[in-house]
Amino acid sequence: MANGIRPQPGIMDIALYVGGASQLAGQSNVLKLSSNENPLGASPAAMQAFARAAHDLHRYPSTDHAALRVAIGDVWGVDPARVICGVGSGEILKLLAEAYAGPGDEVVFTEHGFSMYPIYAHACGATPVVVPERDRMVDVDAILAACTDKTRLVYLANPANPTGTMIPEAEVARLAAGLPPQALLALDGAYAEFVADYDAGRALVEARDNVIMSRTFSKIYGLGGLRIGWAYGPQAVIDVLNRLRGPFNLSAAALAAAEAAMRDTAHTDRCRIENARWRDWLAAGLAELGVPSDPSSANFILARFASPAEAQACDVYLQSQGIIVRQVAGYGLPHCLRITVGDESACRRVVHAVAQFKGSR
Ligand SMILES: *Cc1c(COP(=O)(O)O)cnc(C)c1O
Repeated sequence: MANGIRPQPGIMDIALYVGGASQLAGQSNVLKLSSNENPLGASPAAMQAFARAAHDLHRYPSTDHAALRVAIGDVWGVDPARVICGVGSGEILKLLAEAYAGPGDEVVFTEHGFSMYPIYAHACGATPVVVPERDRMVDVDAILAACTDKTRLVYLANPANPTGTMIPEAEVARLAAGLPPQALLALDGAYAEFVADYDAGRALVEARDNVIMSRTFSKIYGLGGLRIGWAYGPQAVIDVLNRLRGPFNLSAAALAAAEAAMRDTAHTDRCRIENARWRDWLAAGLAELGVPSDPSSANFILARFASPAEAQACDVYLQSQGIIVRQVAGYGLPHCLRITVGDESACRRVVHAVAQFKGSR
Protein backbone atom coordinates (compact mmCIF):
# COMPACT_ATOMS: atom_id res chain seq x y z
CA MET A 1 0.00 0.00 0.00
CA ALA A 2 1.20 3.47 -0.84
CA ASN A 3 -0.02 5.04 2.36
CA GLY A 4 1.43 4.43 5.80
CA ILE A 5 -1.67 2.81 7.29
CA ARG A 6 -0.60 -0.42 8.99
CA PRO A 7 -2.29 -2.67 11.57
CA GLN A 8 -0.66 -3.30 14.94
CA PRO A 9 2.02 -6.02 15.06
CA GLY A 10 0.65 -9.55 15.15
CA ILE A 11 -2.70 -8.87 13.52
CA MET A 12 -1.64 -10.02 10.04
CA ASP A 13 -0.33 -13.25 11.62
CA ILE A 14 -3.88 -14.23 12.50
CA ALA A 15 -5.34 -17.06 10.43
CA LEU A 16 -9.08 -16.50 10.26
CA TYR A 17 -11.10 -18.80 12.48
CA VAL A 18 -13.15 -21.31 10.51
CA GLY A 19 -16.39 -22.29 12.19
CA GLY A 20 -18.14 -25.64 11.81
CA ALA A 21 -20.00 -25.94 8.52
CA SER A 22 -23.78 -26.06 8.73
CA GLN A 23 -24.84 -26.79 5.14
CA LEU A 24 -24.12 -29.35 2.45
CA ALA A 25 -24.85 -28.70 -1.20
CA GLY A 26 -27.79 -30.77 -2.40
CA GLN A 27 -28.63 -32.21 1.05
CA SER A 28 -31.81 -31.42 2.95
CA ASN A 29 -31.79 -33.62 6.07
CA VAL A 30 -28.45 -32.28 7.30
CA LEU A 31 -27.14 -33.35 10.69
CA LYS A 32 -24.72 -30.73 12.04
CA LEU A 33 -22.28 -32.29 14.48
CA SER A 34 -19.42 -29.89 13.90
CA SER A 35 -19.83 -27.18 16.56
CA ASN A 36 -20.57 -28.99 19.83
CA GLU A 37 -24.07 -27.58 20.04
CA ASN A 38 -26.65 -28.95 22.48
CA PRO A 39 -29.00 -31.33 20.60
CA LEU A 40 -31.71 -30.73 23.23
CA GLY A 41 -31.62 -26.97 22.67
CA ALA A 42 -31.94 -24.23 25.25
CA SER A 43 -34.10 -24.38 28.36
CA PRO A 44 -37.76 -23.55 27.56
CA ALA A 45 -37.54 -20.96 30.36
CA ALA A 46 -34.68 -19.27 28.50
CA MET A 47 -36.72 -19.16 25.29
CA GLN A 48 -39.64 -17.59 27.16
CA ALA A 49 -37.34 -14.99 28.76
CA PHE A 50 -35.92 -14.17 25.34
CA ALA A 51 -39.40 -13.75 23.86
CA ARG A 52 -40.47 -11.51 26.77
CA ALA A 53 -37.42 -9.31 26.15
CA ALA A 54 -38.93 -8.37 22.78
CA HIS A 55 -41.26 -5.95 24.60
CA ASP A 56 -38.32 -3.87 25.87
CA LEU A 57 -36.05 -3.65 22.85
CA HIS A 58 -35.99 0.16 23.09
CA ARG A 59 -34.27 -0.02 26.49
CA TYR A 60 -30.51 -0.16 26.94
CA PRO A 61 -29.39 -3.26 28.81
CA SER A 62 -27.89 -3.39 32.29
CA THR A 63 -24.22 -2.42 32.35
CA ASP A 64 -23.29 -4.44 35.44
CA HIS A 65 -25.15 -7.67 34.58
CA ALA A 66 -26.10 -7.86 38.26
CA ALA A 67 -29.10 -10.18 37.91
CA LEU A 68 -27.19 -12.68 35.80
CA ARG A 69 -24.16 -12.57 38.11
CA VAL A 70 -26.39 -13.26 41.11
CA ALA A 71 -27.96 -16.23 39.30
CA ILE A 72 -24.48 -17.57 38.51
CA GLY A 73 -23.50 -17.08 42.15
CA ASP A 74 -26.60 -18.91 43.37
CA VAL A 75 -26.09 -21.90 41.08
CA TRP A 76 -22.29 -22.26 41.16
CA GLY A 77 -21.56 -21.01 44.67
CA VAL A 78 -19.31 -18.19 43.52
CA ASP A 79 -19.12 -14.58 44.71
CA PRO A 80 -21.07 -12.47 42.15
CA ALA A 81 -18.72 -9.53 42.79
CA ARG A 82 -15.91 -11.56 41.23
CA VAL A 83 -17.89 -12.66 38.16
CA ILE A 84 -17.67 -10.92 34.78
CA CYS A 85 -19.98 -11.64 31.85
CA GLY A 86 -18.88 -11.40 28.24
CA VAL A 87 -19.92 -11.85 24.63
CA GLY A 88 -19.23 -15.56 24.85
CA SER A 89 -16.40 -16.71 27.04
CA GLY A 90 -14.33 -15.82 23.98
CA GLU A 91 -14.62 -12.11 24.72
CA ILE A 92 -13.27 -12.63 28.23
CA LEU A 93 -10.42 -14.87 27.10
CA LYS A 94 -9.49 -12.23 24.53
CA LEU A 95 -9.69 -9.39 27.05
CA LEU A 96 -7.26 -11.33 29.25
CA ALA A 97 -4.66 -11.28 26.49
CA GLU A 98 -5.30 -7.59 25.77
CA ALA A 99 -5.03 -6.69 29.43
CA TYR A 100 -2.01 -8.74 30.41
CA ALA A 101 0.10 -9.41 27.30
CA GLY A 102 1.64 -7.39 24.50
CA PRO A 103 4.66 -7.31 22.20
CA GLY A 104 7.58 -9.18 23.74
CA ASP A 105 5.35 -11.19 26.08
CA GLU A 106 4.54 -14.88 25.74
CA VAL A 107 1.14 -16.55 25.79
CA VAL A 108 1.31 -20.29 26.41
CA PHE A 109 -1.11 -23.04 25.34
CA THR A 110 -0.82 -26.66 24.29
CA GLU A 111 -0.40 -28.28 20.92
CA HIS A 112 -4.01 -29.42 20.50
CA GLY A 113 -5.40 -26.42 22.38
CA PHE A 114 -8.42 -24.42 21.23
CA SER A 115 -7.64 -22.61 17.97
CA MET A 116 -8.79 -19.24 19.32
CA TYR A 117 -5.83 -19.05 21.75
CA PRO A 118 -3.20 -18.22 19.07
CA ILE A 119 -5.63 -15.66 17.64
CA TYR A 120 -5.91 -13.91 21.01
CA ALA A 121 -2.13 -13.98 21.42
CA HIS A 122 -1.43 -12.53 17.98
CA ALA A 123 -4.18 -9.93 18.32
CA CYS A 124 -2.39 -8.28 21.24
CA GLY A 125 1.04 -8.59 19.59
CA ALA A 126 2.29 -11.24 22.02
CA THR A 127 4.24 -14.35 21.05
CA PRO A 128 2.29 -17.63 21.11
CA VAL A 129 4.19 -20.52 22.71
CA VAL A 130 2.89 -23.97 21.80
CA VAL A 131 3.60 -26.78 24.26
CA PRO A 132 3.55 -30.48 23.26
CA GLU A 133 0.94 -32.82 24.73
CA ARG A 134 1.42 -36.47 25.56
CA ASP A 135 -0.92 -38.74 23.57
CA ARG A 136 -3.54 -36.00 23.35
CA MET A 137 -3.32 -35.26 27.07
CA VAL A 138 -2.15 -31.95 28.52
CA ASP A 139 1.29 -32.35 30.11
CA VAL A 140 1.67 -30.01 33.10
CA ASP A 141 5.42 -30.53 33.34
CA ALA A 142 5.83 -29.55 29.68
CA ILE A 143 3.80 -26.36 30.26
CA LEU A 144 5.87 -25.46 33.31
CA ALA A 145 9.06 -26.11 31.36
CA ALA A 146 7.87 -23.73 28.62
CA CYS A 147 7.25 -20.85 31.02
CA THR A 148 9.80 -18.03 31.15
CA ASP A 149 10.06 -14.59 32.69
CA LYS A 150 8.12 -13.39 29.62
CA THR A 151 5.09 -15.67 30.16
CA ARG A 152 2.06 -13.56 31.02
CA LEU A 153 -0.83 -15.89 30.30
CA VAL A 154 -1.43 -19.65 30.10
CA TYR A 155 -4.63 -20.87 28.43
CA LEU A 156 -5.82 -24.32 29.45
CA ALA A 157 -9.17 -25.88 28.59
CA ASN A 158 -10.20 -28.70 30.95
CA PRO A 159 -11.93 -30.72 29.52
CA ALA A 160 -10.01 -29.88 26.36
CA ASN A 161 -11.30 -29.25 22.84
CA PRO A 162 -10.88 -31.05 20.42
CA THR A 163 -9.38 -33.96 22.36
CA GLY A 164 -12.14 -34.23 24.98
CA THR A 165 -9.55 -35.35 27.51
CA MET A 166 -9.19 -33.94 30.99
CA ILE A 167 -6.42 -33.71 33.55
CA PRO A 168 -7.08 -34.21 37.29
CA GLU A 169 -7.79 -31.16 39.45
CA ALA A 170 -4.60 -31.84 41.41
CA GLU A 171 -2.61 -31.44 38.19
CA VAL A 172 -4.27 -28.10 37.47
CA ALA A 173 -3.42 -27.03 41.02
CA ARG A 174 0.18 -28.10 40.50
CA LEU A 175 0.30 -26.01 37.33
CA ALA A 176 -1.09 -22.93 39.06
CA ALA A 177 1.36 -23.32 41.93
CA GLY A 178 4.34 -23.71 39.60
CA LEU A 179 3.75 -20.71 37.33
CA PRO A 180 6.14 -17.77 37.40
CA PRO A 181 4.82 -14.86 39.50
CA GLN A 182 3.86 -12.63 36.53
CA ALA A 183 1.78 -15.35 34.80
CA LEU A 184 -1.98 -15.79 35.01
CA LEU A 185 -3.69 -19.15 34.42
CA ALA A 186 -6.86 -18.89 32.32
CA LEU A 187 -8.81 -22.10 32.94
CA ASP A 188 -11.29 -22.47 30.09
CA GLY A 189 -14.26 -24.43 31.39
CA ALA A 190 -16.36 -24.42 28.21
CA TYR A 191 -17.21 -28.10 28.78
CA ALA A 192 -17.10 -28.15 32.59
CA GLU A 193 -20.86 -28.64 32.99
CA PHE A 194 -20.68 -31.96 31.18
CA VAL A 195 -18.57 -33.35 34.04
CA ALA A 196 -20.62 -34.41 37.08
CA ASP A 197 -19.55 -33.01 40.46
CA TYR A 198 -16.82 -30.83 38.98
CA ASP A 199 -16.25 -27.27 40.15
CA ALA A 200 -14.15 -26.43 37.05
CA GLY A 201 -11.51 -24.75 39.20
CA ARG A 202 -13.70 -22.67 41.51
CA ALA A 203 -11.80 -23.85 44.61
CA LEU A 204 -8.52 -23.06 42.89
CA VAL A 205 -9.68 -19.55 42.02
CA GLU A 206 -10.59 -19.08 45.68
CA ALA A 207 -7.34 -20.49 47.01
CA ARG A 208 -5.01 -18.51 44.72
CA ASP A 209 -4.58 -15.08 43.13
CA ASN A 210 -3.28 -16.24 39.73
CA VAL A 211 -6.20 -18.28 38.36
CA ILE A 212 -9.32 -17.21 36.49
CA MET A 213 -11.88 -19.67 35.16
CA SER A 214 -14.15 -18.99 32.21
CA ARG A 215 -17.43 -20.66 31.37
CA THR A 216 -19.88 -20.41 28.53
CA PHE A 217 -23.61 -20.51 27.78
CA SER A 218 -22.80 -21.79 24.27
CA LYS A 219 -22.44 -25.48 25.08
CA ILE A 220 -24.56 -27.22 27.72
CA TYR A 221 -26.92 -24.24 28.06
CA GLY A 222 -27.64 -24.34 24.32
CA LEU A 223 -27.35 -20.57 23.80
CA GLY A 224 -24.46 -20.41 21.31
CA GLY A 225 -26.51 -18.14 19.07
CA LEU A 226 -26.82 -15.49 21.77
CA ARG A 227 -23.12 -15.16 22.67
CA ILE A 228 -22.82 -15.21 26.47
CA GLY A 229 -20.05 -16.38 28.74
CA TRP A 230 -18.71 -15.60 32.16
CA ALA A 231 -15.60 -15.86 34.26
CA TYR A 232 -14.75 -16.04 37.96
CA GLY A 233 -11.41 -14.74 39.10
CA PRO A 234 -9.41 -12.62 41.50
CA GLN A 235 -11.10 -9.28 42.23
CA ALA A 236 -8.09 -7.39 40.85
CA VAL A 237 -8.31 -9.22 37.51
CA ILE A 238 -12.10 -8.80 37.26
CA ASP A 239 -11.67 -5.06 37.90
CA VAL A 240 -9.14 -4.84 35.06
CA LEU A 241 -11.38 -6.71 32.62
CA ASN A 242 -14.39 -4.56 33.53
CA ARG A 243 -12.45 -1.47 32.47
CA LEU A 244 -11.81 -2.99 29.04
CA ARG A 245 -15.16 -4.51 28.20
CA GLY A 246 -17.88 -2.44 26.57
CA PRO A 247 -20.46 -1.29 29.14
CA PHE A 248 -23.30 -2.63 26.97
CA ASN A 249 -21.49 -5.72 25.70
CA LEU A 250 -24.46 -8.03 26.40
CA SER A 251 -27.93 -7.38 25.01
CA ALA A 252 -30.94 -7.33 27.34
CA ALA A 253 -32.39 -10.38 25.57
CA ALA A 254 -29.15 -12.32 26.02
CA LEU A 255 -28.96 -11.41 29.71
CA ALA A 256 -32.56 -12.45 30.33
CA ALA A 257 -32.20 -15.75 28.49
CA ALA A 258 -28.92 -16.58 30.23
CA GLU A 259 -30.34 -15.89 33.66
CA ALA A 260 -33.31 -18.18 33.02
CA ALA A 261 -31.04 -20.86 31.54
CA MET A 262 -28.71 -20.69 34.54
CA ARG A 263 -31.59 -21.11 36.99
CA ASP A 264 -33.12 -24.07 35.08
CA THR A 265 -30.76 -26.57 36.67
CA ALA A 266 -33.16 -29.43 35.91
CA HIS A 267 -32.64 -28.83 32.18
CA THR A 268 -28.88 -28.63 32.63
CA ASP A 269 -28.87 -31.89 34.60
CA ARG A 270 -30.97 -33.61 31.94
CA CYS A 271 -28.58 -32.43 29.22
CA ARG A 272 -25.53 -33.68 31.16
CA ILE A 273 -27.08 -37.12 31.73
CA GLU A 274 -28.29 -37.53 28.14
CA ASN A 275 -24.92 -36.40 26.79
CA ALA A 276 -22.99 -38.89 28.91
CA ARG A 277 -25.33 -41.70 27.92
CA TRP A 278 -25.15 -41.16 24.16
CA ARG A 279 -21.50 -40.16 24.19
CA ASP A 280 -20.55 -43.47 25.72
CA TRP A 281 -22.86 -45.33 23.35
CA LEU A 282 -21.37 -43.51 20.33
CA ALA A 283 -17.79 -44.10 21.44
CA ALA A 284 -18.44 -47.81 22.04
CA GLY A 285 -20.23 -48.18 18.71
CA LEU A 286 -17.39 -46.58 16.77
CA ALA A 287 -14.74 -48.51 18.71
CA GLU A 288 -16.46 -51.76 17.68
CA LEU A 289 -16.04 -50.62 14.08
CA GLY A 290 -12.32 -50.08 14.62
CA VAL A 291 -12.56 -46.33 15.22
CA PRO A 292 -11.32 -45.72 18.77
CA SER A 293 -11.40 -42.51 20.78
CA ASP A 294 -9.96 -41.33 24.08
CA PRO A 295 -12.43 -41.29 26.99
CA SER A 296 -14.21 -37.95 26.51
CA SER A 297 -15.36 -35.67 29.31
CA ALA A 298 -17.13 -33.30 26.93
CA ASN A 299 -20.05 -33.34 24.44
CA PHE A 300 -18.01 -34.66 21.55
CA ILE A 301 -15.63 -37.47 20.81
CA LEU A 302 -12.39 -37.37 18.88
CA ALA A 303 -12.63 -40.36 16.56
CA ARG A 304 -9.25 -41.76 15.49
CA PHE A 305 -8.72 -43.33 12.10
CA ALA A 306 -5.85 -45.39 10.75
CA SER A 307 -4.52 -42.51 8.66
CA PRO A 308 -5.27 -38.94 7.62
CA ALA A 309 -6.50 -40.33 4.29
CA GLU A 310 -9.01 -42.63 5.99
CA ALA A 311 -10.26 -39.78 8.23
CA GLN A 312 -10.77 -37.60 5.17
CA ALA A 313 -12.48 -40.34 3.22
CA CYS A 314 -14.82 -40.98 6.13
CA ASP A 315 -15.60 -37.27 6.35
CA VAL A 316 -16.46 -37.24 2.64
CA TYR A 317 -18.69 -40.30 3.09
CA LEU A 318 -20.45 -38.79 6.10
CA GLN A 319 -21.11 -35.65 4.09
CA SER A 320 -22.62 -37.75 1.32
CA GLN A 321 -24.99 -39.05 4.01
CA GLY A 322 -25.84 -35.52 5.16
CA ILE A 323 -23.68 -35.64 8.29
CA ILE A 324 -21.28 -32.79 9.07
CA VAL A 325 -18.47 -33.46 11.55
CA ARG A 326 -15.29 -31.50 12.16
CA GLN A 327 -11.92 -32.10 10.53
CA VAL A 328 -9.20 -31.25 13.02
CA ALA A 329 -6.03 -31.31 10.93
CA GLY A 330 -5.57 -27.67 11.91
CA TYR A 331 -5.22 -28.87 15.50
CA GLY A 332 -2.41 -31.24 14.56
CA LEU A 333 -4.83 -34.19 14.44
CA PRO A 334 -5.17 -35.02 10.72
CA HIS A 335 -6.11 -38.66 11.38
CA CYS A 336 -9.05 -37.67 13.59
CA LEU A 337 -12.58 -36.34 13.22
CA ARG A 338 -14.33 -34.53 16.03
CA ILE A 339 -17.95 -35.61 16.31
CA THR A 340 -20.45 -33.78 18.49
CA VAL A 341 -22.69 -36.03 20.58
CA GLY A 342 -26.16 -35.52 19.18
CA ASP A 343 -29.41 -37.01 20.39
CA GLU A 344 -30.16 -40.73 20.14
CA SER A 345 -31.17 -40.70 16.49
CA ALA A 346 -28.14 -38.59 15.54
CA CYS A 347 -25.75 -40.98 17.26
CA ARG A 348 -27.44 -43.96 15.61
CA ARG A 349 -27.14 -42.25 12.22
CA VAL A 350 -23.41 -41.65 12.76
CA VAL A 351 -22.64 -45.23 13.78
CA HIS A 352 -24.71 -46.58 10.88
CA ALA A 353 -22.89 -44.34 8.39
CA VAL A 354 -19.42 -45.17 9.73
CA ALA A 355 -20.31 -48.88 9.58
CA GLN A 356 -21.27 -48.49 5.92
CA PHE A 357 -18.07 -46.55 5.27
CA LYS A 358 -15.93 -49.23 6.94
CA GLY A 359 -17.85 -52.02 5.18
CA SER A 360 -17.24 -50.44 1.79
CA ARG A 361 -13.45 -50.53 2.15
C1 LIG B 1 -16.84 -23.60 22.48
C2 LIG B 1 -15.65 -23.21 23.26
C3 LIG B 1 -15.62 -22.01 23.94
C4 LIG B 1 -16.84 -21.15 24.00
O1 LIG B 1 -16.74 -20.01 23.30
P1 LIG B 1 -17.91 -18.94 23.43
O2 LIG B 1 -17.24 -17.69 23.00
O3 LIG B 1 -18.30 -18.90 24.88
O4 LIG B 1 -19.03 -19.40 22.56
C5 LIG B 1 -14.49 -21.68 24.65
N1 LIG B 1 -13.43 -22.53 24.71
C6 LIG B 1 -13.44 -23.70 24.09
C7 LIG B 1 -12.29 -24.62 24.25
C8 LIG B 1 -14.54 -24.08 23.33
O5 LIG B 1 -14.55 -25.24 22.69
